[in-house]
Amino acid sequence: MAYQGVIKTYKEFLPVNEKTPYVTLLEGNTPLIQARNIPAKIGLDARLFFKYEGLNPTGSFKDRGMCMAVAKAVEDGSKVIMCASTGNTSASAAAYAAHANLQCIVLVEGGGIALGKLAQAMIQGATVVEIDGNFDQALKLVKEITEIYPITLVNSLNPFRIEGQKTASFEIVDQLGEVPDYHFLPVGNAGNITAYWKGYKEYYKHGKSQRLPKMMGWQAEGAAPIVRGEPVEKPQTIATAIKIGNPASWNFAEAARDESGGVIDMISDDEILTAYSLLASHEGIFAEPASAASLAGVIKYKDRGGFKGGETIVCTLTGHGLKDPDRAMKYASPPIKLKANIDDVMSVLNI
Ligand SMILES: *Cc1c(COP(=O)(O)O)cnc(C)c1O
Repeated sequence: MAYQGVIKTYKEFLPVNEKTPYVTLLEGNTPLIQARNIPAKIGLDARLFFKYEGLNPTGSFKDRGMCMAVAKAVEDGSKVIMCASTGNTSASAAAYAAHANLQCIVLVEGGGIALGKLAQAMIQGATVVEIDGNFDQALKLVKEITEIYPITLVNSLNPFRIEGQKTASFEIVDQLGEVPDYHFLPVGNAGNITAYWKGYKEYYKHGKSQRLPKMMGWQAEGAAPIVRGEPVEKPQTIATAIKIGNPASWNFAEAARDESGGVIDMISDDEILTAYSLLASHEGIFAEPASAASLAGVIKYKDRGGFKGGETIVCTLTGHGLKDPDRAMKYASPPIKLKANIDDVMSVLNI
């Protein structure tokens, strides 16, 4: 049978009853792509895989959780959903709200959202509010508003978001036929690391897998509250999707790290951009900068002597590179401009 989306596919593992609608844009079922060139290029003796979540309907993993959160909002008779966002949550919320005929309000940092994400939220009919403040301030406002008014909060504080997102772990185990030794992913508000760990544990408990991976979370140096052990008041990083100073799922992220024997550490913006460019130019995978934090983490951990050799490593690539075209334009070499004749064109080619 054709694929039917996250909720229907994994309903035994999700909070689904006879009243829950199967809200879906056919999110999930994303490819697990084995790296062909990067291990040799960086001197890594391991099997390296990318879970390419940029291929979800709105271009990020947020869709896995949003379908579940919106389905439960509809089940509960809610008419309006609301979120704070660094961009991808707003794009996803707007899409699923449009699909399910709900109103959607998003609060974002003025000037802080990558172009592709803002365009999505706007054209998909959300009310987009730009505040003079950052994500942490936007989330605080959204929490206050949704406590008072009949509006459903769809940030990852909403437990149904985590439920939907945990299905990525199920897919990885099914696709690999085993559990990876290490799972690397970026950490922003820390919902995703929480969800993956929950997913791995549930599959294990149900006898669908034989062991558990080490969870390896990566924050940007300018937005690394968990690593530093205290909130960061003015987070800074080019990886705007993880520019968060006070993660909502902080404690769950630490639990995932500690229970799995993993690590939460940080990488610089330069390391993120190096990994971003490597992924695109050596594997043909265009992921957004925050996504590349996972590969940057692999490189850092390898350079530190963290791997023994022969491991199986999965990196989540959380969002599509087209979300943030400005970053690629700034980072890559510009096009060569020439007159329209063969001699000029051939003169610059090394053929
Ligand atoms: C939301 C997001 C993250 C961070 O995920 P959290 O669950 O907030 O830790 C990372 N990368 C991308 C592309 C995202 O959209």
